[in-house]
Amino acid sequence: MSTIALDDVLMKELAMGQAKKRGNQSDRIAQAQARERANLPPSVKCNTCKAELTEIHPMDTRGMAGIEVAGAALCDACGIETWVLKGSPEAVERTFAALEGVYTTNGGPD
Ligand SMILES: [Zn+2]
Repeated sequence: MSTIALDDVLMKELAMGQAKKRGNQSDRIAQAQARERANLPPSVKCNTCKAELTEIHPMDTRGMAGIEVAGAALCDACGIETWVLKGSPEAVERTFAALEGVYTTNGGPD
């Protein structure tokens, strides 16, 4: 039994050492984004023109309670961003509303 515990400790140390070696923050962000991209669907339909968008950029979900994965895809044809959100239905609804608010504020006539 003690060998199992030892293996566990060794594995933990190994994992920590690797994480340290991989070092800088932009690398970690890139890795996290790649992981999040893998959780997003391969493509999403544009909300406006229904074009198939395959370039979905993962978004930071730390400020989005209940959201597991979030992404945004910009449509070249109409310049509109379509969002992909994965999480509980209430959280998705709330976050969509919040994003829409930000979008309207930023893109409004003022
Ligand atoms: Zn479009």
